Amino acid sequence: MRFDVLTLFPKMFEAVLGDSIIGRAYRAGLIEMNFIDIRDFSSDKHRKTDDYPYSGGGGMLMTPQPIYDAYMSIAEGLDYKPFTIYMSPKGKIFDQSEAVRLSEIDHIVLLCGHYEGVDQRVIDEIADMELSVGDYVLTGGEIPAMAVIDAVSRLIPGVLASESSYENESHYSGLLEYPQYTRPAVWHGMSVPEVLISGHHANVEKWKREQSLAATADRRPDMLKKAELSDEDKKFIDEYKNK
Ligand code: SAM
Repeated sequence: MRFDVLTLFPKMFEAVLGDSIIGRAYRAGLIEMNFIDIRDFSSDKHRKTDDYPYSGGGGMLMTPQPIYDAYMSIAEGLDYKPFTIYMSPKGKIFDQSEAVRLSEIDHIVLLCGHYEGVDQRVIDEIADMELSVGDYVLTGGEIPAMAVIDAVSRLIPGVLASESSYENESHYSGLLEYPQYTRPAVWHGMSVPEVLISGHHANVEKWKREQSLAATADRRPDMLKKAELSDEDKKFIDEYKNK
């Protein structure tokens, strides 16, 4: 899987994605990441990449030329169009199902805006979709792009130790994850739930499912409407709510 990121701040990515699980996956060749400095493509003699918006108001807007040329440095010579995403607070909200969908695409280009955003014409010219990481406004698309790369990369086979590492996680199955515990068995006077040290596999699985259902009912009841629930799950939720 290949990510090309168009940004004014490539060093931000190297600092964050160079370490840990994603950094290891990159060094192992499981994912390719290129951080392309839009400023390198400015035809302005001062390497300018922004200008005043015609609509007035404060702030600057990123101009189309350097972005388009940076994009073409990737797209030119390919016999397909790389799937191109503009990170934007106006975009579709990024969630786990979108991460799964993107993990099936071989080559993704992410455009990060800054300042007041990007001239609409270059978005219309190159972007296949706009993605938002939530209903709030950040100073730039770099942190959103990192969130997308991280969430998508960990779904690529081989990046995590095993597929079950993410299949039980919050959102993947449409439910929130059950609480997790590690050693020591007693900490600050609090014990790990008895069932987890019982060694009874079926009871542990039942406990995990019920804890997931309870956490989702408490924190995100909206998710229960879309989740795949068995009759047993529904019965548990009814009883849990009436407790
Ligand atoms: N003027 C824009 C608006 O009101 O929609 C906001 C521009 S924002 C200050 C600058 C850049 O940050 C955007 O071009 C976008 O790339 C990125 N950005 C900010 N918030 C974001 C979000 N919630 N999701 C994705 N990208 C975001």
